[in-house]
Amino acid sequence: MSLLHRIEHAGDALAWHGDMPTLGRYTAGIAGEKFFREIMENGKFLGTICPSCDLVYTPPRLYCEQCFAQLEEWVEVPTTGIVETFTIVHLDMDGNRLPEPRVMAFVHIDDTDGGFVHFLGDVEPEEICIGMPVEAVFKEPGERQGSILDIAHFRPR
Ligand SMILES: [Zn+2]
Repeated sequence: MSLLHRIEHAGDALAWHGDMPTLGRYTAGIAGEKFFREIMENGKFLGTICPSCDLVYTPPRLYCEQCFAQLEEWVEVPTTGIVETFTIVHLDMDGNRLPEPRVMAFVHIDDTDGGFVHFLGDVEPEEICIGMPVEAVFKEPGERQGSILDIAHFRPR
């Protein structure tokens, strides 16, 4: 296989399975910390506003991606949105068939200029369409750990 050979299937890629004896820690950053803490403690989403560009970022940003201004105005944003695109996943990262297909979607959060990828649930795959209104389903408060997975999934509303 040369460097120019295109891999068509993930299973064709040369993989080296094993454990690496390293430890690492990524932080969510200042904005991410505040975003995840609000989900964990209150089941709400936060965003930041750039008044110059009239943009609402969620997940929140500390700097505007358009004008590079520092963003200091925080706002609660809806936990609802629209399916902007989606895919149905049948295989895991190693190419093994999942027990049940999972639906992943990019959800554009209402009243904002942002959104994120998450699972769709409580819906049959053939019922999903681009533009479908959805709402976040949060895990029970005692089960939340301050991560994006504190949202169990989004479901139709
Ligand atoms: Zn801006």
